[in-house]
Amino acid sequence: MKKLKKIFLVSSVALMHGNITAQSANFKTKNPYYSKTETAKLKVSNAEWKKILKPELYQVAREAATETAFTGKFYEFDEKGTYYCAVCGNALFLSTSKFATTCGWPSFYEPIRKNSVIYKKDNSLNMERTEVLCGRCDSHLGHIFDDGPAPTGKRFCMNSVCLDFVPIVKNN
Ligand code: FE
Repeated sequence: MKKLKKIFLVSSVALMHGNITAQSANFKTKNPYYSKTETAKLKVSNAEWKKILKPELYQVAREAATETAFTGKFYEFDEKGTYYCAVCGNALFLSTSKFATTCGWPSFYEPIRKNSVIYKKDNSLNMERTEVLCGRCDSHLGHIFDDGPAPTGKRFCMNSVCLDFVPIVKNN
């Protein structure tokens, strides 16, 4: 956790100096698995992902770390569009299923389609939780809880760093 905070601190400093966009773009172009159209399941080792993903994404997506509450870029964000897996490009959520929450992480009441995410029991930290993973690349995205709004009553509590957002293009 300490290490993660350090990474976020370094990221913030980079952002202040305008380097983070270039760095992220650089990492994205070097990712040969990233596709918004491919749906075939990926089998990629963590050793390989570590070479491809920026460190703050690798740590959450591949080592199930949790980004610090209230710090993610999509926590207070309500633009209309689609959220994709930042690791592989798989479509995950529509902005229409995102809801305002005080938990500190972006939250959705349903995935874009049934198989876009998969679930796994998580008994870490002495808690019984259900982990939410990307249905294409098996990356850790966050957890699901039963305190969400209608119509599902579910709260998909996600880490912003694992999400890419593409806004709806407005035709004027
Ligand atoms: Fe993925």
